[in-house]
Amino acid sequence: MSYRIATIAGDGIGPEVTEATVRVLDALLGPDVLMFEWLDGGAGHYQKTGEVLPAETLAACRDSHAILHGAAGLPGVTYDDGTEVGNDLHLKLRFGLDLYANVRPIRLLPGVESPLRHHQPGTIDYVIVRENTEGLYASRGAGVVLRDEMASDSLVITRKGTERVARFACELSRRRQGAPRDGKHRVTVCDKANILRSYAFFRRVCDQVSVDFDDIERDYAYVDAMTVHLVKRPDFYDVIVAENLFGDIISDLGAATVGGMGVSPSAELGDRHGLFQGAHGSAPDIAGQDAANPIATLLSGAMMLEWLASGHHDERLSLAAERFRLAIDKVLEAGLHRPREFGGQAGCRVFTEAVLDQLGRT
Ligand code: ATP
Repeated sequence: MSYRIATIAGDGIGPEVTEATVRVLDALLGPDVLMFEWLDGGAGHYQKTGEVLPAETLAACRDSHAILHGAAGLPGVTYDDGTEVGNDLHLKLRFGLDLYANVRPIRLLPGVESPLRHHQPGTIDYVIVRENTEGLYASRGAGVVLRDEMASDSLVITRKGTERVARFACELSRRRQGAPRDGKHRVTVCDKANILRSYAFFRRVCDQVSVDFDDIERDYAYVDAMTVHLVKRPDFYDVIVAENLFGDIISDLGAATVGGMGVSPSAELGDRHGLFQGAHGSAPDIAGQDAANPIATLLSGAMMLEWLASGHHDERLSLAAERFRLAIDKVLEAGLHRPREFGGQAGCRVFTEAVLDQLGRT
């Protein structure tokens, strides 16, 4: 079987990290297994055509087996209301393809120094499951600004949306090894249930779902306290489920604790579609300088292989995902090609070459 991969490089560092990932995926499986279809989209495309996500790109994504994306967004490319155009590319894909679970693993890799003293690889290894289709971002484009005096956006929590993401988080916890601290399978609900009814409802629905998972410990944290816990005791966490905005914020914090935005992958999954991209944005401050760390997108590529492997029962892909991860770990462990993001010398190209060399040796 072969797989069509809708590939949107996007803006800023997007093309650099996408090209790096496609090269490695090609080397792992060859063009007969993965067929990359390069598609237009992003803030640069909007500047030329007035469209951030052309209808043909959306259709190709819908028809593909998986979607690989670099990043989208350029400073100053905004709508009249001041919001950024680039974000609309993945928001439209999220809503259009119903990608409700945004899976963001936070793992300290070998050879990477955490800014948190005392933490070694193995002690930070949890997954944030960010609800991806509702919450405060559901109001995107529909907020109200009245007489230039007041503005409001609505927070939307539905039973259906919460149930499915809570179930996803519990099932994910079951497949993992548990929290590094004590090996316990644990799902932490991150909310602000003490202040807003919508978050209290989110928590209640998560609780109702967890009744079917009595092998998994239930845990709760208000989002403000969570920012402290993720710094002081990250080893306590296994899977965290959070409303859209909160998940967005805590996943950047989590990324910082394991080396930076350039190491943090993500998979946005629905029941039929999956979109894979680094958890970072288009990083315009470092674009075009070969300074981007490609690890986040490379690891997103490995997540894509794993997701396709389980959906299609294709062992070739799960083996390739394992080789892919191992090659990245080995390059980091050897320490000869430290990405510039970690204070090393390796640009995006050199790091990618090192991963390809490593694959050639194993
Ligand atoms: P978005 O809102 O679209 O997620 P953002 O505004 O949060 O984007 P990013 O583009 O993620 O911002 O960049 C935040 C910081 O992290 C910038 O200083 C950027 O250079 C850095 N950064 C992001 N991705 C990488 C990467 N792959 N390699 C190195 N540095 C990165």
